[in-house]
Amino acid sequence: MKTHTGLRKLLEDQVADMYYAEKQLVKVLVTLATKAENGQLKDAFAGHLEETKGHVERLERVFKFLGKVPKAKKCPAIDGIIEEGSEIMKDFSDDPALDAGLVAAGQKAEHYEIATYGFMCEWAKELGLTAVEDLLHETLEEEKAADEKLTAIAESVVNMEGETA
Ligand code: FE
Ligand code: FE
Ligand code: ZN
Repeated sequence: MKTHTGLRKLLEDQVADMYYAEKQLVKVLVTLATKAENGQLKDAFAGHLEETKGHVERLERVFKFLGKVPKAKKCPAIDGIIEEGSEIMKDFSDDPALDAGLVAAGQKAEHYEIATYGFMCEWAKELGLTAVEDLLHETLEEEKAADEKLTAIAESVVNMEGETA
């Protein structure tokens, strides 16, 4: 019988990583929703902020299923993505291209999340942790939807910037 102790450890490690990342993203999404000029973009960030609070809670339930106390592990990847977004906000604060930059920053974060939840789902499935897999999958679907929404908004944001420039 396969025991998969390494895979279980990896899953626990990535759950802690995402627990950190999601908590950081809650803070960042507040800023993104404030800074966005385009109304649709503002709403998209505000909506995903509420979903992201739910992602934090779902991860707390995942920890429980794994028999662990929720504990965040610093994720240098999301810190880097967030830092890059902050630079854009600073450098383009008075530029009509700001919204396009905010969409880009948001999508970089979503893609990191989609990648991570994607393999976490696979690992949970392999480990026979169905309840964990279901929770992670719910979040994965919301991240994908958020990313698709940003893709749709990106088009209008880039067009508008071209017209007013
Ligand atoms: Fe999330
Ligand atoms: Fe990470
Ligand atoms: Zn997200």
